Amino acid sequence: MAISIKTQREIELMQESADILIATHKYLAKFIQIGITTRELDNLADKFIRNHNGIPSFKGLYGYPASACISINEEVVHGLPCNRRLKNGDIVSIDMGVLYKGYHSDAARTYAVGEVSKEVLELMRVTKQSFFEGIKFAKAGYHLGQICETIQNYVESHGYGIVRDLVGHGIGKSLHEDPQVPNYKPKGRGAKLRPGMALAIEPMVNLGTWQVYTLKDNWTFVTRDGLPSAHYENTIIITEDEPLILTLDKQEKEHIYG
Ligand code: MG
Repeated sequence: MAISIKTQREIELMQESADILIATHKYLAKFIQIGITTRELDNLADKFIRNHNGIPSFKGLYGYPASACISINEEVVHGLPCNRRLKNGDIVSIDMGVLYKGYHSDAARTYAVGEVSKEVLELMRVTKQSFFEGIKFAKAGYHLGQICETIQNYVESHGYGIVRDLVGHGIGKSLHEDPQVPNYKPKGRGAKLRPGMALAIEPMVNLGTWQVYTLKDNWTFVTRDGLPSAHYENTIIITEDEPLILTLDKQEKEHIYG
């Protein structure tokens, strides 16, 4: 299927959607503390999004029962909110999407709870940086595969496993649109990037093996070796120049765009 090209108006609406999403992430970050349950975090996110006239994109998608995916330690993605409490030394990834005026945005962050080992903090740093390495090639004229390959090379140069079972995606009127955006070198070069393409790029990086499997709940992906995994995701728009990263807050944007 053809990759949709967003108009200026559509990009503005996606930015409004992303503004709600990133405000939700910032709001939730304050509650990520020892003792809170993942269900409490999910409820807070759901209320915040709806209070800002958004709709949680994930709720009901493919039957997913919650508004946020909250994945702790060895859980890679799609962790189901439940009565599990955050403990000192955990890392927790929060992945959320917002639908606003017909347009979706999607972003994930991974947080440290209390005191986390240096080894795991480094995993989190490399995961985030792998996104920024990849988007050096998120520019009109490059091919999608160059983003994917760059993420893989950066992650593997640090000795980590890059998850293959789950991939990033196009985004817009649907949360998941073409193309798929793997975090590893695809077969072939992939689509040529054009201004107005919207992509959710989301490296999932494991401390040990890249291999994962799904728990009996049929949602939660966990690492095969039980070692921790981190996740970082933003929604971006391809331009002739640097990509627009829709899902950053003001300070982060100033830091990047000056
Ligand atoms: Mg996504």
